Amino acid sequence: MSTVHDVVVVGGGPAGVGTAYFLRGSGLDVRVVEAAAEVGGRTKTVHVAGVPANTGALFVYRDTMSESLATELGLRLIPFRPTTYGIHVAGVTSVSTDDDELVERLPLPLRGKRQLREFMANVLDEYSSFTADGALSRAADSLEDHTVADSLTGLDPQVVAILEAAIKGGAVGKPQELSAKYALRYFASYLAREKNNRLYLVDGMQAIPQAMVRRLPEHTVQLGTRVTEVRFDSEADLYRIHATTPTGSLTLSSRQVVMAVPSPLVAQLCPGLPDWKSRALARVKTPGSTTLNIVADANQCPEVAQWSFLTTVGTRFDAIINPLPGVAAPGTPPGIVRFVCYGNTAGHVPGFSDDPALIHEWVEDFLKVAPALRGNILGVHGQSWEHCFSLLTPERAQVLPELQRPVGRVHFAGDYTSATAGSHGAYAEAHRVAELVRQSVPDSLQRR
Ligand SMILES: Cc1cc2nc3c(=O)[nH]c(=O)nc-3n(C[C@H](O)[C@H](O)[C@H](O)COP(=O)(O)OP(=O)(O)OC[C@H]3O[C@@H](n4cnc5c(N)ncnc54)[C@H](O)[C@@H]3O)c2cc1C
Repeated sequence: MSTVHDVVVVGGGPAGVGTAYFLRGSGLDVRVVEAAAEVGGRTKTVHVAGVPANTGALFVYRDTMSESLATELGLRLIPFRPTTYGIHVAGVTSVSTDDDELVERLPLPLRGKRQLREFMANVLDEYSSFTADGALSRAADSLEDHTVADSLTGLDPQVVAILEAAIKGGAVGKPQELSAKYALRYFASYLAREKNNRLYLVDGMQAIPQAMVRRLPEHTVQLGTRVTEVRFDSEADLYRIHATTPTGSLTLSSRQVVMAVPSPLVAQLCPGLPDWKSRALARVKTPGSTTLNIVADANQCPEVAQWSFLTTVGTRFDAIINPLPGVAAPGTPPGIVRFVCYGNTAGHVPGFSDDPALIHEWVEDFLKVAPALRGNILGVHGQSWEHCFSLLTPERAQVLPELQRPVGRVHFAGDYTSATAGSHGAYAEAHRVAELVRQSVPDSLQRR
């Protein structure tokens, strides 16, 4: 007779592992089923030239569940303290602590420089009126229904190209898709050189789900198991979770299910969802993205080690981020810098990780921006994500209650059901769903 689990969680990323973590001690038999060979999903960390490098999620946001979990799990955090902002356009890289100087050095006509300065000043004004110490105020909620596209109308094409790359690079979505509130948190905060809202995990973002798994009962997580379908068996009053493994196929049975995979996969894996749920899921945008991690020795060019966020035009990526500007991370020699190039416009590039020629092209683009690092690159890693970020668009904000609502005893948790986005959104959703699961189980069963 096969085991009937109390809860099967589909997906071992932040939301899936988080759900099991928040259910520990409940007495419930929880099984997390993960397709990959390791947990973490889009918080994957790799070692490049011996240095932990984040291929997906990069930062822990302050005062979110990612920060409280990292602290609870005893993980080391370093504040992100940018002092510079940079733009690369038409072959010129300008990086500065001062926006006037930054714009002055760009190869733009006078009118373009004026427009860019004005735009930056307006964004910074808006940022300071809607944030305090790096946190968005309640008043920022009023921006949820607006997009950032309107502010670009009437600007010169070269200026629009810079700002579109800045928005895409900082917040993944296109200006016409993003809520103005979300754009503040991401794109505007880089422009503001915000020092109070991001932290960097010394051992990488994947350290959070990995540390959680170490606190779970053995065998909670079943790796290398790809779920192909979740069906309700009305006769047995159980869910049947069909999956494939490297050696064959298997079916798990469960009283409750948590769908913790990126939203486009939810509808594929759960046939027969009610219309209201399918309609809500269809309104979630999760575009793809490609990242290139570069670890370099910047001892010969210390100014490059101070770079923090650069918007790049005319490159295969839209942005470069150095999460530790001017800081030697514990365990890493001074002057060793880890850059991440974000190809949000490039989207998903299947096979990128295994294509040295393509990776080489991206590295050459990076060297156009940072020529001083030629000959000083110690290692690179390419990664492409089919589903990168569950954008917080006005459309998604409107259907959030439907995205979160269970269907029968199937629950939905992930960045796609969260009021924010990112791993903090996924962990917060794990917590919400774990509470729902607990409430739906009689006390006697929980103490079992
Ligand atoms: C380039 C990039 C930059 C980002 N930057 C940040 C950042 O700075 N800060 C931040 O907080 N967040 C960031 N994020 C977002 C963050 O990584 C995600 O929001 C978060 O990982 C979502 O967690 P999740 O559990 O909902 O989904 P995922 O992390 O996608 O986890 C889902 C899991 O389900 C598994 N899975 C999929 N299909 C199946 C199946 N059929 N059967 C079994 N398992 C399956 C996957 O392998 C995966 O492990 C970034 C993401 C990317 C890609």
